Order: sequence, then C-alpha cells, then structure tokens
Amino acid sequence: MSHPTIAIVGSGPIGSAYARLLLEGLPDARVVMFEAGPQLTAIPGESVRNIVDPDEKARAREMSQGPQAGAFRETLGLPAGAVVEGMFTARQGTHLIDFGGEGSGHAPTFPAAAAATNVGGQGAHWTCAIPRPSGSERVDFIDDAEWNDLIEVAEGLLHAQSAAFADSPIGAAIRDLLAEEYEGDLPEGVEVGTLPVAGDPQPDGSMRWTGADMVLGPLIDPSSPLSARFELRDLSLVRRVETDRSRATGVVVEDLRTHETSFYAADAVVVAADAFRSPQLLWASGIRPAALGRYLTEHHVVITTVALDGERMSERVTDEQLAAELERRSYNPADPVAAVNRIPFAEPGHPYSLQVMYAETPPFQLDPEHPAAGNKWGYVNMGYGVRKFPRAEDGVSFDDDELDYRGFPNMTIEYALTEREEAEIAEATVLLRKAAGALGPFIAEPRLLPNGSSLHYMGTMRAGAVDDGTSVADPYSHVWGFENLVVGGNALIPTANTMNPTLMSTAIAVRGARALVSELGG
Ligand code: FAD
Repeated sequence: MSHPTIAIVGSGPIGSAYARLLLEGLPDARVVMFEAGPQLTAIPGESVRNIVDPDEKARAREMSQGPQAGAFRETLGLPAGAVVEGMFTARQGTHLIDFGGEGSGHAPTFPAAAAATNVGGQGAHWTCAIPRPSGSERVDFIDDAEWNDLIEVAEGLLHAQSAAFADSPIGAAIRDLLAEEYEGDLPEGVEVGTLPVAGDPQPDGSMRWTGADMVLGPLIDPSSPLSARFELRDLSLVRRVETDRSRATGVVVEDLRTHETSFYAADAVVVAADAFRSPQLLWASGIRPAALGRYLTEHHVVITTVALDGERMSERVTDEQLAAELERRSYNPADPVAAVNRIPFAEPGHPYSLQVMYAETPPFQLDPEHPAAGNKWGYVNMGYGVRKFPRAEDGVSFDDDELDYRGFPNMTIEYALTEREEAEIAEATVLLRKAAGALGPFIAEPRLLPNGSSLHYMGTMRAGAVDDGTSVADPYSHVWGFENLVVGGNALIPTANTMNPTLMSTAIAVRGARALVSELGG
C-alpha cells in the first residue's frame, strides 16, 4: 500500500512506540495520534518528574487529572461543577475511575483504579521501573529468541538503564544488608540487584526520566524528516472506531476545544488508550469479543516504610559518601527517588517481586516527635508485588444505558481475590517483614494496598494464540477478525505477573508494529 495513513488512539508510551516503529518502518506512511488530554510540557509527553519547579510540577499533574482536575475541568471540555472526592484520592497526575461524582464509573471492589488523561498518558507520571518479566510471567506463544529481541528493542525505545544508581553508596549498603538477610533462601541464580529503570543519566548525576517524548524521539525533533509525517493532536477524544466488516476504516474524533466531531479515515487504527478506556472504546464502537474487559489482573502490593538503621548504615557508608550523595540529589529535590534495588520473581522459591526504593524523606508527613523523624540516613519504601491469576469473572463491563462523564457506556469493575492469592499475599507479607527487618525500624507497618493501587492493569484485551473466546487480540495484537485494527498496552498481557508491566507491553507492541509494517508495506 502506498502512503498509508495510521490513526493512533492514545499518546502514552505504547501509542508512541507504535508511532515510532511504523514511521521508521514505512517510508511513506503518515501517523496521526489522537490524545484526549492536554499537552503538559513544552516537549510533548515529557515525564513530569523532570520538572524541577514544584509549582509547575503540581500544575502539570493537575492538568492530567481529568474529571478531578478542579480548575482545569472546563479546559478539558467537561462541564464546570463541584468535584466529588472518591473513597481514595488518586495518585498525583491520575484520576480515579470511580471518583464518586456524576458520570463516575463503579468500582467498589477495585476502588483505587485510576487513569491519566494527558499527552504522554500515565507515562508522564510513572516511576520508570522496567524489570523484565520472567518464567511464567512471560507470554508463552513467543519463542525465546524472538522474545529477547523484542525486549531489547523495547528497552531501547524506553531508554533502559540497568546500572542506574549502581554507584550510590546507600543503594549498595541496602543491597548488602538484603543479601545477608536472604543468604541461602533464594533460588539459584536469583539475587539482590539494582532495578532497571527508564531514563538517561545526566552528567550532574541526576536522571532525565523517560516519557513518551523519549519514545517518540525523532518524531518530535523538527530536524528529523520523520517529524513531517507525524502529527499529535491533543484534546482530541476518539469517540468511535468505524469498521466495515473485517476492516477498520477510521476514527470519529471530537475536538474538545470546539466540540466539533469529524471522521478521520485511516488504513489502520491502533487503540492504545489504557486497560479500561481501550476496551470501553471498542465496546462503544460495537466491537465486542467475548473476552473484552474480562480477565482483569494487576499485581497486588504489600508495602512498608522503614527508617534506615544508623548503626548498620554507618558501618557501610562514610559521612563523606553520604554528603556527596545528598549533594547529587539536591539537583532535583522534587524528585524523591534515589536508589532502587530489587529481588526478582523466580518460581519456585520466590514467586514475588520485591522493590526497595531509597528516599531522603518518607512518602508521608512524619510526626516531628517520631524517633525516626529527620533520620539522616533516609528511608526506604519497599513493597512486594504479588500476582493475580486471571479469571473471566474479574473484569470491567460496560452499560449502554448509563453513560459516563465523557458520554461513553459506563464502566463497572468486578474483582475478587481468591484463596490462592490471599495465601501468596500472606507469604509475601512475612517476607516483607524479614526484608524490612534487615534495614531498620518500621515507620509504617506492612499493609496490603486496596485493589487497583498498582496502577498496572492487565488482561482486559488479552493476546492469545488461538481465537477461543479467552482473548481479544491475536499473537500480533490485531483484534481477532480484523485485518487492520490493532490494540496495545498492558491490557494485552495474558499472564499472572508480579512486576511493572510497561516493558512487557512495549515488547508486545514491537511485535504488533512489525506485523503492521509488513502488512501495510507489502
Ligand atoms: P497510558 O500511558 O495510560 O496512555 C493512554 C492514553 O490514552 C492517555 O493519555 C489517555 O488520555 C488516552 N486516551 C484514553 N481514551 C482516549 C480516547 N478515547 N481518545 C483519545 N485518547 C484517549 N509502569 C511501569 O512499568 N513501571 C513503573 O514504575 C510504573 N510506575 C507508575 C507510576 C505511576 C504514578 C503511574 C500513574 C503509572 C505507573 N506505571 C508504571 C504504569 C505505566 O505508566 C503504564 O504502564 C503506561 O503508561 C501504559 O502506557 P499506555 O500507552 O498503554 O497507556
């Protein structure tokens, strides 16, 4: 096909990966990316964590918060009015699906479910942890050689950095203490290490965290010829994917500035609008495979915060090293994460994933009278990720008779933990106490976060090897039965996993984009 046009719905890391790979692979293609939210930063899709000024950072976060965005509500094309607080406050930069106001979704059993509505999607707010999935976490219909290649390309797109903070003496001391504690307890080949993250280390020792901007790369660099074939339209809400039998013909888009609606014809459509809103858009478009919205999983999180023990730390870190570390950190004081360690998933033996983040300050206001307040060695926030085994009963359903605040069929999320998951959560809590005990006293006891807190929602548009009603997408991310309708994002992950999913979703997107390049190119 000559001069194909591809419409992409959603400007997060996955939509951006598709845009990049399609334009690099198809020399005469054109990509238009539609994003419902506003652009937050001068460089489109940049990580909000890179913004040093605290007021600017707060404003960028508020602009991403959709229906809960206070003064920005009207600029997002939504009616003005009081914003009703939900049961939980969403993480900064995100908004709850079940926010409690008019047009709110219903998620009593998954109350912390949240989304971000802005250029760059959740990828403007993410923590940038990109561990590789392993063992049963991986997709079983892709062979090892191809999978490793997909992961490497995905790591390139995300600017993977496996040695981030490896030179942090505090990070090294934490690894040392954990390694001592777990000695002899971990399966062969599994050890305490640094957590791979997405970003570029800067000469001053700080990080420039990856956002959609870095995935788009040359597409938003005016000096690159690729940029002439790419267009990003913010505040453009895709209301429908139009189809003609087995083909997508384009998208119906509402310009949220003018409220005008128009049809944009395309030779292929990629829907990467997150794990709740992508299936919602397909449903609203009359595309309703049996597995759509079902098999919802996340990884449950048991977390705690400890103050690093002065005696144990001072045996491993000198005062000069601590001072140098704090000096390095002072370049971006608003970015609280300094060194990140982990123990990966391995089965049998350690079917969980531990992440340990060092920060100078606790993640919550600590009473100044607390004995650990102002701890000069800092704190660690640590958590065990525990898997959820996919079941058809867990998922999101859509109601054609009740519309949400955007006018889409409203969502209801049903979700329950089974005995199997409860048992693993209990075991992970015991392990978390052990790991925390090696580092210092608790300032927050281990606790299980409410369902939905991981922000890593998977399974609602699963990819599968065969069209047997348990998947939405084929092994190349095409919706079953459609030649040119592709879906992307964490929703495609069909497995039970314990870790941050964006790397895995990007790898799956690389495979989908390669297939689309060969179809459109040839
Ligand atoms: P998103 O980034 O969610 O982007 C989807 C976009 O689609 C949104 O911008 C949305 O506005 C847009 N959209 C939705 N509907 C429409 C429509 N109808 N028309 C037009 N546009 C639409 N993951 C990790 O792997 N590691 C981490 O450390 C990590 N930490 C996180 C921390 C936080 C605070 C948050 C919020 C997320 C974190 N995540 C992490 C999750 C990670 O950000 C997501 O996995 C990733 O952003 C998913 O990319 P995506 O492109 O599929 O979707």
